[in-house]
Amino acid sequence: MRFSGLKVLAQGLTGNRGWRPHWRDPAPKPEYDIVIIGGGGHGLATAFYLAKEHGLTNVAVLEKGYLGGGNVGRNTTIVRANYGLPGNSEFYSHSLKLWEGMEQELNFNTMMSQRGILNLCHSDGQRDAFARRGNAMRNQGDDAELLTPEQVRDKVPYLDFDNGRFPIYGGLWHARGGTARHDAVAWGYARGADQRGVDLIQNCEVAGIDIEAGRVTGVQTTRGEIRAKKVGIVVAGRSGQVAGLAGMRLPIESHVLQAFVSEGLKPCIDNVISFGMGHFYISQSDKGGLVFGGDLDFYASYAARGNLPMQEHVMEAAMTLMPMIGKARVLRSWGGIMDMSTDGSPIIDKTGIEGLYLNCGWCYGGFKAVPGSGFSFAHLIAQDRHHDPAAQFRLDRFSTGRGIMDEEGTGAQHNLH
Ligand SMILES: Cc1cc2nc3c(=O)[nH]c(=O)nc-3n(C[C@H](O)[C@H](O)[C@H](O)COP(=O)(O)OP(=O)(O)OC[C@H]3O[C@@H](n4cnc5c(N)ncnc54)[C@H](O)[C@@H]3O)c2cc1C
Repeated sequence: MRFSGLKVLAQGLTGNRGWRPHWRDPAPKPEYDIVIIGGGGHGLATAFYLAKEHGLTNVAVLEKGYLGGGNVGRNTTIVRANYGLPGNSEFYSHSLKLWEGMEQELNFNTMMSQRGILNLCHSDGQRDAFARRGNAMRNQGDDAELLTPEQVRDKVPYLDFDNGRFPIYGGLWHARGGTARHDAVAWGYARGADQRGVDLIQNCEVAGIDIEAGRVTGVQTTRGEIRAKKVGIVVAGRSGQVAGLAGMRLPIESHVLQAFVSEGLKPCIDNVISFGMGHFYISQSDKGGLVFGGDLDFYASYAARGNLPMQEHVMEAAMTLMPMIGKARVLRSWGGIMDMSTDGSPIIDKTGIEGLYLNCGWCYGGFKAVPGSGFSFAHLIAQDRHHDPAAQFRLDRFSTGRGIMDEEGTGAQHNLH
C-alpha cells in the first residue's frame, strides 16, 4: 500500500475502511541469516537498511514487547546534528541527511519538522564553548549561527532574559534541527522492512544467546529456539542484560530519563529551546502539547518511571526560563531507560564473539541517531567492516582509553553525560 494525499482523501470520504495492517504478524522460522534483538528505532532501521542497501531479507527482528513500545516511542523527538567532536560530528551529520530524505524513502509521514533548535547560553564561558561547537558544525558542513541576546529576543521574546541567576547571553541556532513524530519513525521503518521480506516478531523475548566454539549460532526466546548466522544486539536500556546473556560486561549503566507534556495549547513555541544550564528543554507538538524534559534521575534503574524530586527540578527550571509556563497544566509524565556509556558516545561494533554485533550507548540522544545508526549497523553486519561515519564507535576504546569521545568533558561517569 502506497500513501499519497489522494489516498488519504479517498479513504477519508469512504469511512477509512480500506486501510490494511502495515506489517505482517509472522510466526518465527527455525533459522535466519540474521537476527536483530530489539524492535526499537535502531533495530527496525537496521533491518530496513539490511534489506534495502544490502539485499539481505532472510532477517528477523525479535521484540519482547510491541514495536515502538520502548524509548523510540517515549522520547521528546528532537533531531539535530550539533555535535563537536570528530567521530560524533560526521555520524550525526550523516544521520540528519537521512532524516531529510526519510519520508520519501519510507513513503511514510514521520512529521519531520525542521523548526530549528536554539541552545541558550548564560555566561561568557558557555558562549565561547558554543562558538567552538558552532565552528565544528560548520566545518562538518552543517549549519550553525551564534546569536546575540537581541537576536534571541527576536525569536523567543517570552523568555526571562534578565533572570538574576541565568541572564541570557545569546544562543547557538541550528536551523536544520527540529522534531519528528517518534512512533511514526518506528512504524515507517517497520513497514519498510516488512515490505522487503523481513519478519517482525513481537512478544518474543530473547532469554539466551547460543555460542559454539566462539561463534554465535542462534538465540533462545520465549517463542522457541531460533538459529542464526549473525545476531545484532540493539536493545538500548537493556543492553547490559542482553549482552550478559553472551557473557559480556558492557561499559554501560541504565538510568531513567523523564519527560512531560502539557494540555494542548494554541501554537506559542515554534522551535526547540534548550536551557542546558538549568536542565530544561521544550518544544510544542503538532497537537498543541508543550513537550519538555530535563536531566536524568541520577540513579541507575531499570524502572521506566521517574521520581518526584526530578519533576520538581524540571518544573523549577521551566519557571526560571519562561514564567508564563506556570499557567499550563501538566497532562502526563513518563520515563524511559537510557543506555548511558562512560564517555556519552555510542558503540556500533563487533564483539569478541564471531557473528555477534553490538549497538548501544545512545544515552538520551539516540532518537536523532535512528537512521544513521540503522544504516551503519546494517553496513557492519552485512559487510563485516565499519561504515565510515560510525567508524570511531568502537567498543575497545573503553579498555584502551584510545578514541574516547567525551563530548561534554564530564569524565568517566555515566550519569553526567
Ligand atoms: C524521556 C526521553 C526523552 C528522550 N529525548 C530524546 C530526544 O529528544 N532526542 C533524541 O535524539 N533522543 C532522545 N531520547 C533517547 C532515545 O529515545 C533513545 O536513545 C533511543 O530511542 C534508543 O534506541 P531504540 O529506539 O532502539 O530503543 P528502544 O525503543 O528502547 O528499543 C529497544 C527495544 O529492545 C527491546 N528489548 C529489550 N530487551 C529485549 C530482549 N531480551 N528480547 C527482545 N527485545 C528486547 C525493548 O522492548 C525495546 O523495544 C529520549 C529518551 C527518553 C526516555
